[in-house]
Amino acid sequence: MLLITLLVSPAHAWGYHYLMTGPMLSHDTTPWANDSVTVEPLDSFLTAEAAGVAKVFDEFYVWLGQKGSQRFKSIPFDTQAPSTAAFLRSARINPASELPMVRRLLPGETSAAPLLDLGSVSSILKPVAPFRYDFVAAGETMTIREVVATFVDEPDWHYDHSLWTITEYGYGEQPFGKPEGESSKAPFHMYFGHENFLVRAFAPEVTENIMVERVELFARLSELAIAEGHAYWGYRFAAWSTHYLQDLAQPYHSKALPSVGGGYYLRYAVSSKKDAMKTRASQLAANRHFLYEDFVALKLQQHYTSPDTTSTALVTALNTGVPTWSDTNVTEIVARLSDKSASHARTIDKTIQKSFTERMVDDETYDLEKDTAYDVTATMAAIPEKQREKLLSETVSDFAHAGIATRTLLGLVRSN
Ligand SMILES: [Zn+2]
Repeated sequence: MLLITLLVSPAHAWGYHYLMTGPMLSHDTTPWANDSVTVEPLDSFLTAEAAGVAKVFDEFYVWLGQKGSQRFKSIPFDTQAPSTAAFLRSARINPASELPMVRRLLPGETSAAPLLDLGSVSSILKPVAPFRYDFVAAGETMTIREVVATFVDEPDWHYDHSLWTITEYGYGEQPFGKPEGESSKAPFHMYFGHENFLVRAFAPEVTENIMVERVELFARLSELAIAEGHAYWGYRFAAWSTHYLQDLAQPYHSKALPSVGGGYYLRYAVSSKKDAMKTRASQLAANRHFLYEDFVALKLQQHYTSPDTTSTALVTALNTGVPTWSDTNVTEIVARLSDKSASHARTIDKTIQKSFTERMVDDETYDLEKDTAYDVTATMAAIPEKQREKLLSETVSDFAHAGIATRTLLGLVRSN
């Protein structure tokens, strides 16, 4: 049925994880996020802890095998030459990853340090107005909150891109997305564990959980680094791990096509107009997906300089309420989050549909990403008041889960 091609290939999830992560770690239970840590080059950590790092990779590969993954080849960490290059290979991430030593400035934040050229942070990061992309050199120390907030976006900067053609890594055939470009990272950043029986039967690879492998590996590395006194890398790895959890909390990352039910797939199977059905379903999902993320990102960015009741409600969802889920592990966090997010997908999709113009949400000939006249600020300002309230209350639910999952993961790596 070629359902794979039905799937959308988004450019970004909550494209600005850093805006939500600071507030998540400003919860009553996370005063430790204000502590300072010493910034350390990766090579220094790897050299000091080469044996421990090698053990983490060995045990991780055993875990992958036990879980039945067919998508890996073990690459033991080279303790004789414990370099960044060796690390990238064993972690099976992009060998050209920049892993820059930087600190990201929050909206409204000023710094005496010169702003860095964005190309030195990531060769693929492209600024989108009116969002902020300002980075300065890391300096000697950073707070834990700054480390996590700066690097929570790093998995989108380069290291998960274009991995399917690196045969040494053994990821196998790409389940969805294109082998190069933005969507090459999609299978690591989306998890469709709740598709209907037709998708499960005819395109089981779409429902595979590759994402959990990333969360697990970086949580293990984080635990090691924190336990051995390399807090900077401990929290940077933890930031990577939480990135995927936050992605999963976005319903468009947990449900392939939120607006369609099982009947759609049946009609698709017998339709003589498969291409037209495909184009419509995936384009509408993509446009709504981006509108949701832009709504969230713009409100959060504005909150740092000019908070209003909507932005305050969003931030309150991130920094109050249930602190963590207890007695859990990475696999359970992913499963729990995925349940909540997928079951919310239909509701959020309907809410988005009612919040924007018909052209933006119901016209498959419209491609928001290619619309040069698309103005984020004006589009969000035009949401009718009643719909804004509804959209806000639904977003609050996704945010609350993203915050709990993030704090739970950090609690796990800090306590072991
Ligand atoms: Zn992502």
